[in-house]
Amino acid sequence: KDAGGTRVITLMPGDGIGPEISMAVIKVLEAVKAPLIFEPVDVTPVTNAQGHTTVPDQVIESMNRTKVGLKGPLMTPVGTGFRSLNLTLRQLFNLYANIRPCKSLPGVETIYGDVDIVTIRENTEGEYSGIEHTLVNGVVQSIKLITRPASLRVAEYAFQYALDMKRKKVTAVAESQAMRMSDGLFLTCVREMAAKYKSKMDKAGIVYEESTMTTLCLNIVQDPRRYDLLVLPNLYGDIISDTCAGLIGGLGLTPSGNVGTNGAIFESVHGTAPDIAGKDLANPTALLLSTVMMLHYIGMHEHADNIEQAVLKTIKEDNIRTMDLGGKAKCSEYTNALINNLK
Ligand code: NAD
Repeated sequence: KDAGGTRVITLMPGDGIGPEISMAVIKVLEAVKAPLIFEPVDVTPVTNAQGHTTVPDQVIESMNRTKVGLKGPLMTPVGTGFRSLNLTLRQLFNLYANIRPCKSLPGVETIYGDVDIVTIRENTEGEYSGIEHTLVNGVVQSIKLITRPASLRVAEYAFQYALDMKRKKVTAVAESQAMRMSDGLFLTCVREMAAKYKSKMDKAGIVYEESTMTTLCLNIVQDPRRYDLLVLPNLYGDIISDTCAGLIGGLGLTPSGNVGTNGAIFESVHGTAPDIAGKDLANPTALLLSTVMMLHYIGMHEHADNIEQAVLKTIKEDNIRTMDLGGKAKCSEYTNALINNLK
């Protein structure tokens, strides 16, 4: 922050629909007069001295200075030799917890209508550690890495989040019967942290429970109301948070934050949507709600609430929606309508 309270944010517009939805977000932030300066950086992959894919130095330098990033989706080239840039960013900045709130938006018709689940997912290891190799031709091996420090810190984040955000229940999810050592360690760590937080949780009336991934999958689609906050290893968390996104009406609505010891990157959950890129058809709501999370993170709560209310009003009361929500509005039309609904 400078002396006038202005905050510099690293902006990674991303690929596909990324630049369109980033532009929509900037227009909205300009309209609310949020004291932010965006520093745009290009996240085109580069190869480092060891021959690994990484992000350009400019991204690292900017993030190390600003500590807060807003990011559009990045295309992951399919095939060998490329490591996911999203993974690279999470590991580079040690963004160890991924938070995805999935709350039904009034006016968006879905099967249940009242879903309110937050997934907190370990974000740096598990099956997404990026350790894969060919053993012999036609046989590949992928390592699932689970460590005590990473499991403990994500568990701690989850319990603290539950207290701060006044949640009602924390469910730890793992397949500790099938993967006794790896998922077993994850669950042991969450249990340890649950014991540490027990008195605070009891006082706040927050319940702790455990579930297997398979039971969770079955229950969450039959009755999502029985879940409140889920804490999971990386891959399970990725799958379940997309399931939750589906329950509230799709990827166009779901925000996320990647939080670490030394900063955070906020991004929409969806990908680059190559099928609609460049056509002014994308729904910018997910990136806008990610921006709302970012504004809360940097303490600009009033601007956050203003934008969130405008999103709700535009969709529910004005019934102005993009195509993915069954509407006819273009991205730019929806954004302009939303700007008119700002206080
Ligand atoms: P996707 O999320 O890009 O698209 C899936 C479907 O949802 C498409 O029909 C798309 O049009 C629609 N959609 C997604 N976002 C939308 C929005 N904001 N508004 C309206 N419709 C929307 O998933 P995909 O096709 O599997 O992936 C495309 C690329 O994105 C891949 O290269 C993938 O690696 C990458 N990806 C990046 C991220 C990220 O950067 N966080 C996440 C997921 C996928």
